[in-house]
Amino acid sequence: MAAGIAGWAVWDFTRGLAIAFLILLILIFVQLRYMYHLSLWLDKPEETKLKDGWGSWTDIFAKLYRLRRDDQKSRAELAEWLSRFREAMSQLPDGVVIMDDVLFLEWCNPVAERQLGLSLKSDKGMRVTNLIRSPEFIDYIILAHYEEPLSLTINGRKLIIRLIPFENRRQILVTHDMTEFDRLDQMRRDFIANASHELRTPLTVINGFLEIANSEPNLDESSRQQHIKLMVEQGKRMQNLIEDMLVLTRLESIDYPVRDEFVDIHHLLDEVLIEAQALSSNRHKISLVCDGPDILGGTEELRSAFSNLVSNAIRYTPDGGEIEISWNKTNLGPAFSVKDNGIGIKQENLARLTERFYRVDKGRSRETQGTGLGLAIVKHVLMRHNARLLIESELGKGSLFTIQFPESLAPAKAA
Ligand code: ADP
Repeated sequence: MAAGIAGWAVWDFTRGLAIAFLILLILIFVQLRYMYHLSLWLDKPEETKLKDGWGSWTDIFAKLYRLRRDDQKSRAELAEWLSRFREAMSQLPDGVVIMDDVLFLEWCNPVAERQLGLSLKSDKGMRVTNLIRSPEFIDYIILAHYEEPLSLTINGRKLIIRLIPFENRRQILVTHDMTEFDRLDQMRRDFIANASHELRTPLTVINGFLEIANSEPNLDESSRQQHIKLMVEQGKRMQNLIEDMLVLTRLESIDYPVRDEFVDIHHLLDEVLIEAQALSSNRHKISLVCDGPDILGGTEELRSAFSNLVSNAIRYTPDGGEIEISWNKTNLGPAFSVKDNGIGIKQENLARLTERFYRVDKGRSRETQGTGLGLAIVKHVLMRHNARLLIESELGKGSLFTIQFPESLAPAKAA
């Protein structure tokens, strides 16, 4: 009986042990399976999906998922921020180059590519001093006086370059194109120099006569009359010059928009013709054909442009010459033209005619009270009306100046 009970107990114990062992095996298997899934998921988290998990795995997987989701979110945010940063950098008018501490190119915007002749695609990872092979640029890097900008001319453009170290291991190079600014500055300086020169000449003449009048009070009447006549002429010349300079300044001002009014071209050209006849004093045969539509624009500006071309034709055409003024409708739009059979202009001088103070024949321009600003005024008026000036001329034969207006300035109502 006792042996039977002992045997039963041993059997029970062995069976319990076997069951416990089996459960342990199952548990180990489950853990291994989850670990296997975890390993698979860690290899390719985008492609595989984690099982829901069991026991403490549920919590681990949930936390891993959350981490992954947060990571994905911050990656997406970072990518979006980066693309916005690149977009902003590519819109900048200045060039930006990002380099590491030893000047290897990491990134640059399209403006820097253009200005410095770089190519991000092929030059990335190369030393910037090997790409920008200017001795001044290399000296600037070696001397490292980065508080001062460097002025450099590359491919005919004047650039201001600044190097800014940041983050200890990176440097930014910023380039600013000064070419246009320099050109305008030079134009401004030329204008002031020319204007001063133009004003000084008549002033010198007037002062000279005044000194004579002062030192010779008993000068004979005819010389005195002659001196006064010359002084009045020079005074008039200065006045013309100042008036033309004021007109030009006003035309260039952005605060002075074009008046958008219907211009009665017939009436305007009749007035220009009367002025022309007065200027010519019957020395020329002047004709007017007005056969086009009225246009939208600024009457006074157009009067100034038309009068300048007509007065030039009179002043540069010898007595007895012919001047034809016309207003026509062409395929491209309305056109104003002035044709003369005067002195004409050499082909090589045509391109510079609209520059301020440019004259082919300085003597003749001054004799006829020219300021050298007439065609510059015409050019500005035309720019403000989206019109173009076309010049055809032959030395000794005559000239044809045409202003071509766009069709859009002649709306149907005005036709
Ligand atoms: P200016 O006051 O000297 O006439 P403009 O700017 O009106 O100045 O003209 C510039 C130059 O163009 C003149 O000095 C002259 O040499 C030349 N020019 C202009 N119009 C004519 C023309 N119709 N025939 C010949 N030369 C002309």
